[in-house]
Amino acid sequence: MTRNYQEILLWSEITEDQWNDWHWQIANKITSVDELEKVIKLTDKERSSINMCLKSLRMGITPYYALLMEKNNINCPIRRQAVPSINETYISEYDSSDPLHETKDSPVYGLTHRYPDRVLLLVTDQCAMYCRHCTRRRFAGNNDKEVSIKYINNAIEYIKNHKEIRDVLISGGDALCISDQKLDHILGELSNINHVEVIRIGTRTPVVLPQRITPELCAVLKRHHPIWINTHFNHPKEITKEARKACSMLADAGVPLGNQSVLLKGINDCPYIMKKLVQELVKNRVRPYYLYQCDLSEGIEHFRTSVSAGIEIIEMLQGHTSGFAVPTFVVDAPGGGGKIPINPQYLISQSPDKVLLRNFEGVICTYNEPQDISHQCQKCGLCNTYRNYSYRGLEKLFNEETRCLIPNCNVRIKTRRSINDSIKVNI
Ligand code: SF4
Repeated sequence: MTRNYQEILLWSEITEDQWNDWHWQIANKITSVDELEKVIKLTDKERSSINMCLKSLRMGITPYYALLMEKNNINCPIRRQAVPSINETYISEYDSSDPLHETKDSPVYGLTHRYPDRVLLLVTDQCAMYCRHCTRRRFAGNNDKEVSIKYINNAIEYIKNHKEIRDVLISGGDALCISDQKLDHILGELSNINHVEVIRIGTRTPVVLPQRITPELCAVLKRHHPIWINTHFNHPKEITKEARKACSMLADAGVPLGNQSVLLKGINDCPYIMKKLVQELVKNRVRPYYLYQCDLSEGIEHFRTSVSAGIEIIEMLQGHTSGFAVPTFVVDAPGGGGKIPINPQYLISQSPDKVLLRNFEGVICTYNEPQDISHQCQKCGLCNTYRNYSYRGLEKLFNEETRCLIPNCNVRIKTRRSINDSIKVNI
């Protein structure tokens, strides 16, 4: 049961207008143990655990999100995402400050260009709340500042000069922590680039600061369609009346909504919690998009589950609920390899004329292949429009640009090439 903010001494004098003002929420984030103790009960051990963590990391919890925490339950899923713990000071052997190599794949400050036709544009390091499981903690909240317009303009210039970029993801920090005016400017500049076909915004504000979704913001978004928004609900308890209203306003403004959850130990690593979450999301016009395996970022190992936990969740969703409510489970490859989708195995075997499949109930069936399995080109010429960029990865094999892809650590091929390289290989 959600508490009323006026029950909390800290906010008892606050008016409803202040409470519903996103600027007030940001300005009054909980940043110290003293403030936190006015909202939830802490044991001596927790208090010292939080203080140890705060020596090197920040806490920032919006009053709205803080009120969702259970006062006496140390395992409350909302509390665990918001309240620091000493576990965050532990760096495991495989941790890295930038496990996805976003900085290495950055041709200009604030922009990551990894995939052929899309880029990530970081416009601020501010977040409404500092999530304890944040993968981008090397950056989020470092200065609590927007990226300067000079750097943003440099990044926009890069996008202008790269005609292959058709999709720009604006993120941070939290992309919606910047002002409406600045967002309007960035969206306007991007929309004016002919080859930019779609703009996405990554934000957790509908979850931790739903007050941010105002009619004024919706008017800005509407001006620059097609805009897509991906948000970040991790637990059904986050889908409150306020969060529902925020999603509804965005959907009514014509913004398609997706959700990216992170699989978190002890928070949502249960198929039934995830089922409830995805069903609540689709009820609110939010399409579950990705379920992320937790990254190898420094200090978050205590949130990591095994990959098999994610596979089990998908097993228990696929076929058991509407197909469009099932997110794609991905491992974002350490080292910058990008998102790798992982599924339970449904293909049991195959022969030239049939494949053996199993369904979600365990029923095994055959699917007969057509007699003529050759590909028939329609000679429509569409493929020619994609020929102005270089093929990547397996695409090279499909297009017969090469016959094999060989990792550059393959000693056998290196030796062979130094003697007499007669095979056309790609590394
Ligand atoms: S909102 Fe996103 S970037 Fe900000 S702390 Fe949370 S997970 Fe990290």
